[in-house]
Amino acid sequence: MKKCSYCFQVIPEDATECNHCKETLINDSSAKPGVLGNREADKEIIEELEMMRRLLVSPQ
Ligand SMILES: [Zn+2]
Repeated sequence: MKKCSYCFQVIPEDATECNHCKETLINDSSAKPGVLGNREADKEIIEELEMMRRLLVSPQ
């Protein structure tokens, strides 16, 4: 069960429409903006560390 974001009445978890105020509910469970962003940041840090390590081990 979840709460309607319009009238705050308790409605079924899979409801696409509130049966109290008849508002259409947006299912935002598929939207996860943080996951991909974090992975990209991790890749960038790894690349940076790899570059630094190459500089440290370079001859001279
Ligand atoms: Zn409602």
